[in-house]
Amino acid sequence: MPVKILYNGDPRLAGTWVPALRKAVAAKGVEAEILASTDTPEAIHYVVHSPKGEIGDFCPFSGLKAVLSLWAGVEDIVGNETIRVPISKMVDPSLTEGMIEYVVAHVLRIHLGIDRHILHQNGVWRQRETLPVFVARQRTVLMLGLGALGTACLKALADLNFQVSGWSRTPKSIGGATTYSGSDGLDRALALADFIVLMLPMTADTRNVLDGRRFSLMRKGAAIINPGRGPLIDDDALLEALDNGLVSHATLDVFREEPLPPSHPFWSHEKILVTPHIAAETKPATSSMSIAENIRRAESGEGLLNVVNRDQGY
Ligand code: NDP
Repeated sequence: MPVKILYNGDPRLAGTWVPALRKAVAAKGVEAEILASTDTPEAIHYVVHSPKGEIGDFCPFSGLKAVLSLWAGVEDIVGNETIRVPISKMVDPSLTEGMIEYVVAHVLRIHLGIDRHILHQNGVWRQRETLPVFVARQRTVLMLGLGALGTACLKALADLNFQVSGWSRTPKSIGGATTYSGSDGLDRALALADFIVLMLPMTADTRNVLDGRRFSLMRKGAAIINPGRGPLIDDDALLEALDNGLVSHATLDVFREEPLPPSHPFWSHEKILVTPHIAAETKPATSSMSIAENIRRAESGEGLLNVVNRDQGY
């Protein structure tokens, strides 16, 4: 009997995802039926989920074996009590490569002072005052979060000669990087960093991880890059830190409210670059293969990869 898989993502993208998933499960040798909607939820074995999906109550899915997230961030479903089966989060090579490109691009952009040239392109040859002062090996990047994405970004920055450090919930050892854990560890790490990249999941413990106290601990003039989640930063404290010079610049991809409202002060702040949650996207061709591999594993008794720890929230 074929495995029944329901796509519960953005309905406008079903025409892309359903064929991609169909092709991927066939490539993995799984006999499966892929559906974009169903009248018989009790017959569904796997739900492929994104926050844009319309199903939020999973109680009718009595035959469900797992929920497979198309997103790396799972804060929208991790506390869903109608889901009584394992949830897996997305780990996908294209997603990781996209995030590496975003993070490296913005660290280099700030490191090289490229914004100064874009903002002042007015016929004045400002060579002396815009020469880069440092090379990468004199600058330290602190990665908050050393999971699939944070570790890959940290390694890419180390390959460009940046000094790299990282912070995670549990202690980690990554060659060439100084690593920290615990609240005290973060306080110490912040004082030594020129760039702070937030690559953390949104959980009860990570909300407002950068607040007024933590901004005051940072090396004066540090730059913030946040492709993690908006609520990781206290917005008012960030604005204050930018205005009093503690923080030199913030590049923000994620926000407490998305889309960021047109009247929000971030849009017009001269030290903030807003990008509209585009740091890294789940690409159908590759991430369908990650989903299909997980279904193959589950069906053959090998166990799911990237299972969410629902107590930890990620
Ligand atoms: P992972 O789950 O692989 O890694 C999460 C990391 O955060 C781990 O190192 C974990 O520590 C650490 N962490 C979690 N809680 C804490 C805590 N309380 N204190 C310190 N460290 C903590 O996630 P990914 O790397 O795959 O993704 C990270 C996040 O990036 C996602 O949750 C999502 O929010 C965001 N994202 C944003 C995208 C965008 O386009 N803007 C695209 C994709 C993801 P430990 O290693 O000890 O478990």
